[in-house]
Amino acid sequence: MRRPIAIDEMPMNPSKRQREARPNFLSRHCVLSRPVLVVEDQRALAMMLAAMLKERWGCEVHVAEDFRRAKELLASGAPYFAACCDLNLPDAPDGEVIDILVAADIPIIAVTAAFGGEMRQRMIDKGVLDYVLKNSVNAYAHVCELVGFIARNQLAKALVIDDDPLIRDMLMRILTRLRMIVLTAENADDALLMVEDHPDVRLAIVHEHVPQVNGVVVTSALRQRLDKEHLVIIGISDSDDRLIGADFLKNGANDFIRKPFVFEEMITRITKNLEMLNLVEENRQAAYRDYLTGLPNRRSFFVEGPAYMKRASVAGRPLVVAMVDIDNFKRINDTHGHDVGDVALQHVAGVLSASFPDCLVGRLGGEEFGIVLPGSGGEARAVLEKFLATLVATPLVIGQAELTITASIGLATLSRGVEPDLDDLLKAADARLYVAKSLGRNRVEA
Ligand code: GH3
Ligand code: MG
Ligand code: MG
Repeated sequence: MRRPIAIDEMPMNPSKRQREARPNFLSRHCVLSRPVLVVEDQRALAMMLAAMLKERWGCEVHVAEDFRRAKELLASGAPYFAACCDLNLPDAPDGEVIDILVAADIPIIAVTAAFGGEMRQRMIDKGVLDYVLKNSVNAYAHVCELVGFIARNQLAKALVIDDDPLIRDMLMRILTRLRMIVLTAENADDALLMVEDHPDVRLAIVHEHVPQVNGVVVTSALRQRLDKEHLVIIGISDSDDRLIGADFLKNGANDFIRKPFVFEEMITRITKNLEMLNLVEENRQAAYRDYLTGLPNRRSFFVEGPAYMKRASVAGRPLVVAMVDIDNFKRINDTHGHDVGDVALQHVAGVLSASFPDCLVGRLGGEEFGIVLPGSGGEARAVLEKFLATLVATPLVIGQAELTITASIGLATLSRGVEPDLDDLLKAADARLYVAKSLGRNRVEA
């Protein structure tokens, strides 16, 4: 039995926690590798939706104009990622298509001309994820976004904290329809242990009444462990106290829903809040990644570098900082054009990433790269020389020609007992790089 974590216990080091919390992140520009099925008897509408899905997600779209064709396509075994379907088909006027899609375990977004309360309830009960009205201006855009949402958030973890089995079941139904992985906790201790075990949890839904303590306190404890860039918290309550929502929000929740809530409201709030998290993540990636090579950029190198060095220093491991500069790069640009220069940079970045999988590699600017790698000066020199040999052995192919690229490297070793300083080490490595250039290039100087 593990010791439960006290609710008021000091939070663990949040930066460590957050580094481990690798979000299940898929860019808004992701490409869907599986086809989407559109079932719609009005040809013009079907074509429009198919074109939007293809354009937005680069996916294949199969169109079925009636129930018979939908059955054929499903029987063909195509691995449909999602289905957008009209419920009123010439040979199946009563939403029968939903049953075969549910049986095939495909997320369904219904597109319907009209529906009443009874029809709505039936759709939800049958397993439809969401629905839109055909005549609404934004309906098709919403369908496209929802398909992308499932692609980005499938297998992301959601934690439901509620001791009421009915509510837990309802939330589980919603979350599994969104293809998320659902974790549940019946009390505060279990919730915090769950977050310990799953620091990559993306969504927590917290009921106000949690055994042992108030849900607001649980919210606050969760928020101390995972910040708003990593975890969405939604509070729920059936209390008449009109201040409870504000209380949740002030203690770290992103949103609040009063019970009894309807299916549509819950699903929309979940998707909207998680999309905000995805946007934040995307912005962070844009800010810390070099757009050309995909490597950590200079800013990221100076954020990650000191942490990397500190860990090595605490563990008493030797460490080396290397500065890599492509030789005569200006000549590549001048001879072959700037575009080929860009491809050469990507090529070198690729060889670097493959050669130093467990090290910190970043593009410091222009044709200069930095590496923080473990090991003594001698060990580092050997692997860096091996990298230079690999670079020469893998020329860049441009049309019929092959372009051999070389680089020069300066390295600096962290002396024992000295507080690691990335700036100082890079300056020292840069001075050695200058020597490597003056001694003829394509070499390592330490
Ligand atoms: P050395 O061997 O002494 O390092 O010579 P070099 O030509 O590599 O160095 P120099 O600093 O003279 O030239 C670097 C060139 O890199 C100049 C600049 O236009 C080019 N450059 C910087 N960033 C980029 C980029 O993103 N794409 C391309 N294509 N060229 C770039
Ligand atoms: Mg340079
Ligand atoms: Mg250069």
